[in-house]
Amino acid sequence: MPMPTAPAPRPASAPVAALDIGGTKIAGALVDADGRILARTRRPTPAGEDGESVFGAVGAVLDALATSPAWAVAEAVGIGSAGPVDAARGTVSPVNVPGWRGFPLVERVREHAGGRPVTLVGDGVAMTAAEHWLGAARGHADALGLVVSTGVGGGLVLGGRLHPGPTGNAGHIGHLSVDLDGAPCACGGRGCVERLASGPHIARHALDGGWRPGPDGDASAAAVAEAARAGHPAAVAAFERAARALAAGIAATAHLVEVDIAVIGGGVAGAGEVLFAPLRCALADYATLSFARGLTVVPAATGADAGLLGAAAAARAPR
Ligand SMILES: [Zn+2]
Repeated sequence: MPMPTAPAPRPASAPVAALDIGGTKIAGALVDADGRILARTRRPTPAGEDGESVFGAVGAVLDALATSPAWAVAEAVGIGSAGPVDAARGTVSPVNVPGWRGFPLVERVREHAGGRPVTLVGDGVAMTAAEHWLGAARGHADALGLVVSTGVGGGLVLGGRLHPGPTGNAGHIGHLSVDLDGAPCACGGRGCVERLASGPHIARHALDGGWRPGPDGDASAAAVAEAARAGHPAAVAAFERAARALAAGIAATAHLVEVDIAVIGGGVAGAGEVLFAPLRCALADYATLSFARGLTVVPAATGADAGLLGAAAAARAPR
């Protein structure tokens, strides 16, 4: 019987495989040590199908990556997945993929990837890892990342290292309550950041205030942002409210763990100054303690590849 051998130390230049798993698509890439994408592929997520069919799409992505010469030297796999994830158990239960509830994704990917080590983090943590590695939080030892889109997620870098927490969910700022008696949130809490600042809630608030979509019927947060840029008061108010909720959550995080930068990605961040101008203003109201006054808030810089680069960064993080 062959003796088990210690794994060879990972060459600094070895690529890793990265998976970015969401409710609409599953993207995969081979990413080198400098963050260059050597190969990439994607499949639609068959989100309405059973768990095995959804995993079939993950397998197809891995098989496509395995046709690249870089696969042979790839030493690990990183996964950033829509949540909730449980990195301690290696399972995922994405809200938008009902066929996966407690699905053992880490074990299944490890089997499919020839036994390579697999690291799982939530998508907010992955985006934060990408921004710390290659984006706007580069060089910051203590940073908060936020993903503001259909929901509000996030992640933390503390002491120069990604801090995913035991289950891969640390930094989930969306469910910090910033309004004790506020509206009930889908999570069961009240007055959560997400309940005030997610794209659908921005749009809802604008509609309640009297804003109406144009002839194309687009009632998304992006359409509200366009109306806010044109000065529509209800659209402006919806973004100001979201900005205050985000500012309160970011300030609370800064007071708690001394982050000095918050990086905001996700579709709603694409609103630009309509969101960031009131956010910077509101930050002055909430980040009041001396050590938090230097806190800056900036847009994310890693763009559409944030999920893949973050999954790669998580795979490279010291274990
Ligand atoms: Zn909540």
